[in-house]
Amino acid sequence: MTSVDFLLTNKDITYEIRTEIKRLGRPIPDLIISKTVVGKSRNYSRNFNRSVYDRFKWLCGCSKRNKLFCFICLVMVGNQGAWTQEGCVGKVRHKATA
Ligand SMILES: [Zn+2]
Repeated sequence: MTSVDFLLTNKDITYEIRTEIKRLGRPIPDLIISKTVVGKSRNYSRNFNRSVYDRFKWLCGCSKRNKLFCFICLVMVGNQGAWTQEGCVGKVRHKATA
């Protein structure tokens, strides 16, 4: 079980466990996400590129669910939404409302 999966499946996690998960750091696994984008003259295939982890320091991945999540919101039980529940695979804006 990945730490992201653990945070998603267990609702009553103690502060100590959350702190430990935070200390271990965000998981940044390689994911297999592929999306076909319809262009004017042809279709493009966009694949997961792990440089996204460098661009967004809050981003983490779950290899089991094959989705991206917000590590900060997961650990801090921040705003609930796509980034903390179902996970994201494409371009979805992350609203900072916490
Ligand atoms: Zn967040």
